Amino acid sequence: MSFSNEVRNEVARYMPDKPCCRKSELAALLLFAGQVDKTADGQLLKITVENAATARKIYQYVKELSPWPATVESEQKNRFRKSRAYEVVIEPQEADKAVLEEMGLFYPTARRHVPWNLLGKACCRRSFIRGLFLTRGFINRPEGNYHLELVLSDTRLAVEVQKLLQKMGLKAGRIERKNHLVVYLKDSEKIADFLRLIGASKALLDFENARILKSMRNTVNRQVNCETANLVKTIDASVRQVELMDKLIKSQRWEMLSPQLKELALARLKYPDSTLKELGEMLNPPLSKSGAAYRMRKLEQTAEELLDQN
Ligand SMILES: [Zn+2]
Repeated sequence: MSFSNEVRNEVARYMPDKPCCRKSELAALLLFAGQVDKTADGQLLKITVENAATARKIYQYVKELSPWPATVESEQKNRFRKSRAYEVVIEPQEADKAVLEEMGLFYPTARRHVPWNLLGKACCRRSFIRGLFLTRGFINRPEGNYHLELVLSDTRLAVEVQKLLQKMGLKAGRIERKNHLVVYLKDSEKIADFLRLIGASKALLDFENARILKSMRNTVNRQVNCETANLVKTIDASVRQVELMDKLIKSQRWEMLSPQLKELALARLKYPDSTLKELGEMLNPPLSKSGAAYRMRKLEQTAEELLDQN
């Protein structure tokens, strides 16, 4: 199951306590998934969603908050894909116009706008964006790139949604894609805030866990890379030094080294894997890391000079 569907399943089952919030969520569901169809004897309002739990929620809200009888229909959307579409169908009467208008849907022309009159309170704004996510939201699994988007049908609505998110502390971007307008969040903090605001606690937990793992993995990788680089440097230097000492011994100029340099050269030959710090500690008297490094440079330089004297 996609992460989007996991989040939808979770928040579709989340029922806000207060009637004001339920109404705001229903408004979003009507606004973003509703469509007015003309029929021979009137008009139908159809709300189409792909998520069964969302369809159940819409049905329950309509029953509870509106004067209209509703039915739920389900159909195979495409026989090649397994997705089904669920349609909640209601038959509003001319007299119900005001109810729909209050929810941002101008019946029967179906011109849409964000119903600011319902969104005065923070609790209601949270419910409204929950309804928006249920019908238009997509979110990437946090193991991949951080991305949450809301796909809207027209510019005016997209601008209003962006304004609403801004009001909730979520600065969202907006791009045009094919015939749609996409309002999106890229910042992982903001996506986590969005999940928290719509009440997706389980998804938020998964999201945060993945985020922590990802940042830990990055830190470990950086450390490992750094340690590996240092190790490679140490080994390269050691190989070079051992080769040089070997040549010096074979050239019979070995005896020309000072006792101090000889001691270090022998330590290197005996312990090719040791770091300079470790070699320094083996000397008598011991040397610090920088002291050992200095003496090693001196040893290599002297050895090269001796070998050059032909
Ligand atoms: Zn409320």
